[in-house]
Amino acid sequence: MPDVATRHWTDRVDASLFDRLRRRVTLAGDGLTRPSSPVVAPLTGEPLAEAPLGTGEDIAEAVRRGRAAQREWGSMSCADRAQVFLRYHDLVLKRQDLLLDVIQIESGKARKHAFEEVADVAIVSRYYAIHAQQHLRSRRRKGALPVLTATWEHHHPLGVVGIISPWNYPLSLSMTDAIAALMAGNAVVLKPDQQTPYTALAAIDLLYEAGLPAELFQVVTGRGRELGGPLIQQTDSICFTGSTQTGRTIARLAGERLVGCSLELGGKNPMLVLADADLEYTATGAERACFANAGQLCISIERLYVERPIYDRFLELFSARTRAMKLGASFDYGMDMGSLASRDQLEKVQSHVTDAVSKGATAVAGGRARPDLGPFFYEPTILTGVTDEMTLAKEETFGPVVSIYPFDGIESAIERANATPYGLNACIWTRDTRRGRRIATRIQSGTVNVNEAYAATWASVDAPMGGCKDSGLGRRHGAQGILKYTAAQTVSVQRFLPIAAAPLFSERGWARFLSTSLKLIRRLPGLR
Ligand code: NAD
Repeated sequence: MPDVATRHWTDRVDASLFDRLRRRVTLAGDGLTRPSSPVVAPLTGEPLAEAPLGTGEDIAEAVRRGRAAQREWGSMSCADRAQVFLRYHDLVLKRQDLLLDVIQIESGKARKHAFEEVADVAIVSRYYAIHAQQHLRSRRRKGALPVLTATWEHHHPLGVVGIISPWNYPLSLSMTDAIAALMAGNAVVLKPDQQTPYTALAAIDLLYEAGLPAELFQVVTGRGRELGGPLIQQTDSICFTGSTQTGRTIARLAGERLVGCSLELGGKNPMLVLADADLEYTATGAERACFANAGQLCISIERLYVERPIYDRFLELFSARTRAMKLGASFDYGMDMGSLASRDQLEKVQSHVTDAVSKGATAVAGGRARPDLGPFFYEPTILTGVTDEMTLAKEETFGPVVSIYPFDGIESAIERANATPYGLNACIWTRDTRRGRRIATRIQSGTVNVNEAYAATWASVDAPMGGCKDSGLGRRHGAQGILKYTAAQTVSVQRFLPIAAAPLFSERGWARFLSTSLKLIRRLPGLR
């Protein structure tokens, strides 16, 4: 389909697509009595389709089906499982237009931001298809006593992994954790956000087309506070992406059952611009750092600290760029920013900006809703003069709003960057990248990008990604991102002598023997 500057989803996809995808939602029994709620297309504010409001019974049915399907999948070789995800990688790229349309229709974001999600899913598919085997393989470990003890480490699938995903990156955050869980040999039960279920359903449809065995990936739509409890009650691990407040509830429920949980939560991410930064390049980077996905990105920047000698010049460049950004509802790549995702989001952004301006902040760019473009549009906004008593100084806005501050000396910048309960992402801009890396290690944040907004760390999927402090627990990506979906098992074979007083040894003789052995092991590098 050609790119056309239309905001109407009916010009992009046939309504029957949503009816077909809805059949992938798991419903217990005949499912006929299930109520539903409307999914709204944010670009126009019109209802798009209905999504069932699932129940605890639907979760139970999904877990039952997933568990049955997992038995065979879990016993397959990693290499065989990988074939599905290599095909999925190719299919996601080949059918990207459909995925991009559905993401844009459900979330209202600009096409270039929807593409980030498609690229992310392809990258993670390829990565785990190729590297899961290395992360999961059984390996020899040093035994308790050389020669006498032989030890192996194994990783087994957990069974059924529950995933709860948010609306802001509905493709990435529903699929990438699921890919790791599935590659580790588990089944998945996903509860997507009720605003954006069709993106996940379209992506899962493609995954089945790529060869995923039937029933391995279950989806239950509905309200989080009703489905979260039953999901955590019945699954073997839970992966949650969303707000810090909900994350605490999830952790408490997982704690009661003693199942693992990983939490990818909110942020109030800082950006540091050092005096030697390339200002044009940094202003371009700041636009992406602050306004990608209209700022509804957990790793986007909401606090910008600029070294005083370049503050005025940088603010001038960044404001000019921000004011020139193209906003609009369109299914082509022509827009720099799309709509906010919902009325709730618009109201939150408006309330944060109104509060700040009423207490003395100045909007040097943006600061207004744009109902002429669509019901939930809001201009990319830069605020100066933000002080601690303003709500947005500390709270996450999760919208296209950044506060900019001058700083004197790197120590004060680091201190201010760290003065937040959050610790998800940060970025540092400087020509001296060695210094940038040194400063990065002093920022209390799960990821820090030097001369990039967020994508360098996010897309380095061989390395762990996640938050510290109130921004989360556990990591996605890399070895940690897949091992968390396994149960580690240690198997040791003891030979010749027990690790205890043998029949011919007295307890005292055994203590002497072990003490001498330990001293020897300490001295001989080959044995340690
Ligand atoms: P949210 O916590 O309200 O909702 C996220 C998901 O949790 C949804 O699917 C929702 O239905 C479900 N949910 C809500 N209450 C629940 C409950 N009691 N039990 C179980 N599930 C429940 O978050 P949101 O406001 O929709 O998402 C935005 C937040 O997510 C922001 O704070 C953002 O920073 C964060 N986020 C973090 C990451 C990350 O990787 N760290 C990525 C994207 C978004």
